[in-house]
Amino acid sequence: MKLIIHGGFFSESSTSAETKLAKQDALRRILYETYSFLQHHSALETVIHAVELLENDALFNAGTGSQIQSDGKIRMSASIMDGVSKKFSGVINIEEVKNPIRVAEKLFSAEDRVLGGEGSIVFARKNKFDKYSTEIPQRRIEYEQKRAAAGMGTVGCVALDAQGHLAAATSTGGKGFEIPGRISDSATVAGNYCNEFCGVSCTGVGEDIVSGALAAKIVTRVTDGMQLESAVQKTFEELSRFDGFAGVIAMDANGRMYHFNSHPKIVFGSYDGDELNVFD
Ligand code: ASP
Repeated sequence: MKLIIHGGFFSESSTSAETKLAKQDALRRILYETYSFLQHHSALETVIHAVELLENDALFNAGTGSQIQSDGKIRMSASIMDGVSKKFSGVINIEEVKNPIRVAEKLFSAEDRVLGGEGSIVFARKNKFDKYSTEIPQRRIEYEQKRAAAGMGTVGCVALDAQGHLAAATSTGGKGFEIPGRISDSATVAGNYCNEFCGVSCTGVGEDIVSGALAAKIVTRVTDGMQLESAVQKTFEELSRFDGFAGVIAMDANGRMYHFNSHPKIVFGSYDGDELNVFD
């Protein structure tokens, strides 16, 4: 059983050492907590659990603590993908729910599995997701000062369970300051993808991640027999041709874990029950 999680990008130039340590501590705590959850749950249940914990931590740009868009509102996106059934579900630009990843989970068994905007909000309310503000005062200050939160903090998780099954989940508050209606990569197959061979969760500039078709491309390469590291590096080499800005966490069916980023570093952690690593 193995776990890899990320908390988005970390910018040395604009984030304090304190925030960096706090993010690392949070990842450590969430890795321990989620690993014990994984002992008795599937990979799919586990990635949802991990992302819910990350969404609840205001340090990250997902769920509580999400960034504010150009019109002053928060819109969040989240998705899950199960490597066994190959089902993908997600919400795009949902508003005022505590845990977008739980709405994505609810959609997993629905016929229409990706909902956006108003439709996703109506679906959430019908399914008893109460109105909840995910705004924190710090994000409002940043918004008033017309700046995005220091270091993007989208979150994600890939897990391998005791049955050898993989799953991936990703959740975001977006880039900050986007035009209302902008679509993030996080609830697309470019930002979150998984099958029986490999699972990937991305962070970075959604437009670049979509242009590079990152997650789906890496998973396809591993499926076709490429080593995980080579699949990630080749995909990033293609991304660099248009100066794409992104980071990924990835795991294959043998439990091999890998992370990679273009410019600043991705904050990530991994745990296999023996060795717990948290890096930026
Ligand atoms: N990928 C997210 C988006 O573009 C942002 C991020 O990863 O920080 O919506």
